[in-house]
Formats: sequence, C-alpha cells, structure tokens
Amino acid sequence: MSEPMRYLLDDDEVPTTWYNVVADLPAPPPPALHPGTLEPAGPDDFAPLFPMDLIMQEVTQDRFVEIPGEVMDVYRLWRATPLHRARRLEAALGTPARIYYKYEGTSPAGSHKPNTAVPQAYYNAKAGVRKLTTETGAGQWGTALSFACQMFGLECEVWQVRASYDQKPYRRAMMQAFGATVHPSPSDATEYGRSLLAADPDNPGSLGIAISEAVAVAAPDPEVRYALGSVLNHVLMHQTVIGEEALLQMAKAGDTPDLIIGCTGGGSNFAGLTFPFLREKLAGNISPVIRAVEPAACPSLTRGVYAYDFGDTAGMTPLMKMHTLGHDFIPDPIHAGGLRYHGMSPLISHIYELGLIEAEAMNQTDCFAAGVQFARTEGIVPAPEPTHALAATIAEALACKETGEEKVILTALCGHGMLDMAAYDKYFEGEMVDYDYPSEQVADALSRIPQVPA
Ligand SMILES: *Cc1c(COP(=O)(O)O)cnc(C)c1O
Repeated sequence: MSEPMRYLLDDDEVPTTWYNVVADLPAPPPPALHPGTLEPAGPDDFAPLFPMDLIMQEVTQDRFVEIPGEVMDVYRLWRATPLHRARRLEAALGTPARIYYKYEGTSPAGSHKPNTAVPQAYYNAKAGVRKLTTETGAGQWGTALSFACQMFGLECEVWQVRASYDQKPYRRAMMQAFGATVHPSPSDATEYGRSLLAADPDNPGSLGIAISEAVAVAAPDPEVRYALGSVLNHVLMHQTVIGEEALLQMAKAGDTPDLIIGCTGGGSNFAGLTFPFLREKLAGNISPVIRAVEPAACPSLTRGVYAYDFGDTAGMTPLMKMHTLGHDFIPDPIHAGGLRYHGMSPLISHIYELGLIEAEAMNQTDCFAAGVQFARTEGIVPAPEPTHALAATIAEALACKETGEEKVILTALCGHGMLDMAAYDKYFEGEMVDYDYPSEQVADALSRIPQVPA
C-alpha cells in the first residue's frame, strides 16, 4: 500500500470563491412565493429573517461569489478537508472500481455544516444582529451554528427536536460548550410550542416544528435573525467549497469521476460536492452521473410531489417549489436525523426536474451495514446520514466486480458518527428496524399543501 491514500491542498491552493450553479442552468429555478399574495417573494419578504447580504446571495445570478477574508480566516481552522482514496474498502470488496471520498468530518462540528454556519454568522454580525435562532434535528447544525456564533460574538438559541434532545445529550452539551442556549422542541418558549404541548405533552417534535419555533422568535425582533442549515440557495452555495476543493484534489489524484454520490436531507452536502462537477459537466469537460441517496422512510425526491409548499410545519415561511412529502408530514424516527426533512432544496428539486441528476432511496439497516464495513476498512465511523451514500457506493462497486468496469466513484463523507454511537448500538443489538414507505401519512399530509394555480 505505498500508493497515495489521501490528497490534500496547500493553504494557497484553497479556493476563495463560492460557486452559484444558477448561473449555468439551462432554465432558471421557479421563485419563492409570498404565502398570502402568491406573488414572487421579494427581498423585503425575507428581511425579518435574514440579513440583506444573505438575501442577495439567495437570488444572485453571479457565477462566483468572493469569500470574505474574515470567513476564510475561520475556514482555515480545518479547510481544505482531505480527499481519500478508499483503497482498503476497494480491496475488501474486491472491486476494480476506484472509490474516493471527500471527508468533512474534520471540521469543528464534525460535519460539513460549519461551511455555511460561518458565513451566515459573519454576515449577521456585520449587519449588527445580536442573536441567531435556529432548529436542529440530529444536532449537527445546532453545533455548527453555536461554534460559528462564537467566532463572531453572536448569541445563539437552538430548538432541538425533542426526540433528539432526549437521545443525544452529548450533542446538546457540545452546543452548550460553544455557548448556545438549547430548548427541546416543541418548547414552552413559543406560543406554537405551547399549543402543541397542550395537545400532547409527549410530542417528539420534528424539524418543521422546530423551524416554526425558531422563526417565531426571530421574526418580530429586529436584533434577532434566523439561520437555516440547508435547503436555501445561499446555503448550498456556501457548501460548494467542498466540490471546488474536490475538483483540484481529483486532478492531483489523476482521476475523473464517472459517478458522484451524496446523501440528501435538505440537499446541502450533496450540492456542495456535486455542483462544481455539474458546472464542468454542463461545460462539456467531464460526464459523471450524479446521484442523490435519501432514506426510504423520508423519500422527498423519489416519492414526493413537485409543488409549492411551506418550509416549516406551522406554515410561516414563503412558499418554495420543491419535492415535498407535505409540510406537516412527520417521518418515522430513523437514526439519520439529518435526513428527516419533509422537503428537498428547491434548487436540487429543479435540477432533478431538468434531468441533470438521478435519485434513489435506501433502508437504514442496509446503510448501517455499509457504515460498519466502511469503519472496519477505512477507520472512520461515518455519521448515519452519509452511510446512505456509502451503501449506494458499495452497491455500485460490487456491480463493477461483476462487469469488470474500472469505474471512478466519488462520494461525500459529510460527517463522522462519534456522537451517534447509540444508533450503532441499536444496530449491533439487532434492534434497528426498517420502515415501510408511509404512503397513507404522506397522502394525508399532501392533501394539506397550499393550492397554487400554475
Ligand atoms: C445535516 C446533515 C445532513 C443532511 O443535510 P444536507 O443539507 O442534506 O446535507 C447530512 N449529513 C450530515 C452529517 C449532516 O450533519
């Protein structure tokens, strides 16, 4: 094994721009709509929630956006992240495929989330904001934002989905270590939370509910703003540092991907890795197949409808056209908490409709099997979310064994699982179950999405 296993970048090679894929798409994505007028939402509709710099990034047509020096200074704590060649996994599978993974678990939060938390905290601090509110499901986003707020002297208040708050005390403690205040959601800190608790004191919460609570606290207070960890255009753009680095690192490895695979919750780590490669594909320079992998229990891309819907459960956000299972659909409690969101990023949904990417759904027991095989060969315990991408990667590599194809596969290992060992424990104890596609609950939730005339 004297061959290279890991490709790094020198500090002066780290990309200093974000990439906006909208500039290169054959058709523009549909606009967000004001939920009352159903007219396209303008900057003012977002102003109660986000600072103007981020709103402008949300709608920019510029192909590249300069990363501010203050943000680069924080990125430099862990960027560039390494690109690995999974030689031991390849050997264990006996595959002729060459497998690469871009590893984001080296960040302060252990995932890709700080790539956007840092610029979001920076632009809010620059606009004079005192405090950021947010939701967190698995705890990764709350951890990332807590860290980022500390870097720029902001307060941070987090609504953590109740089920995860109870199951993951270490995530909560990590947010507290980074100075955040953490509530279980539904909480008694908002009217909406109190109304849900009155109806059911044991409400386990959901991402959509936690978003409603965080938004309700931010919107009326001019010193408080809200931050979203996925889904929105500016979030996906911030994540493209992953793919820009990976393009340079694949060049160092002397390989070109034939297939790029990422897991999708709201779509940000997938977009972050794949959009720069999609740019090169649209320019005719490379021709990889790009594939999103989602949980079978929450399959917004493969089984949702493409329609305007709310981003939160209470129905307070602008309407976004996306693949959705219905804004009040609450997925079964799979262990990949970061993938339990009812919708898919509008930008990824649009790109999927354009036929530029493909998607598939996976069951969690297959994903954990892949995660364990990966840990035993590559030495990194993956977070439950990217085990979806790893399961698809391993299936492809095994198919290559049949055909003899030397396919080059690139995948996003978007976080480590060291605070997710309770989930692995369930898997080892044989207690992990797969959930059937919840067709009845989805049909029910879809009956309540807003009616928007074409
Ligand atoms: C949040 C999270 C996800 C899901 O979010 P995306 O926006 O789809 O990337 C996936 N993996 C990890 C490790 C996460 O923290």
